[in-house]
Amino acid sequence: MAQRGAQQNLLKFSCSICLDLLKDPITVPCGHNYCSNCINRHWEEEKSKRTYSCPLCRMEFYPKPNLRTNNLLAELVEDKKTELQAAAAERIQKQKELERNRLNIQQRIQERENEVKLLHTLLFSYLLEQERASHFDLIFMKRF
Ligand SMILES: [Zn+2]
Ligand SMILES: [Zn+2]
Repeated sequence: MAQRGAQQNLLKFSCSICLDLLKDPITVPCGHNYCSNCINRHWEEEKSKRTYSCPLCRMEFYPKPNLRTNNLLAELVEDKKTELQAAAAERIQKQKELERNRLNIQQRIQERENEVKLLHTLLFSYLLEQERASHFDLIFMKRF
């Protein structure tokens, strides 16, 4: 099981556009990091607005900042890749577990609902019988 630190590192070294590990990381002037492909695609979409923003903090830059790969960060990601990938795998595992738990709970709720439905049916037929019986009593009593 990866430590909590690895999960935090995973966030630190993940691109918030593709949610994957940073690839050719680029640091924009506000200090946020993105994959070079991701931020360039994002800015390509913004081109018509003649302003370039950070998807995370919405800070706007003009003219388009000159981007260079953050080599230090790239090396860090490379160094920690195995650990980070393990952390990513663990996160997916946890999500699956949560999903399984959710389904279990949903199934239990469904079972309870079925039981309640059954109880309602029983109660209803019981009441119906009671009513029939009292009705019968009434007819019976009228005869005498
Ligand atoms: Zn990315
Ligand atoms: Zn930013």
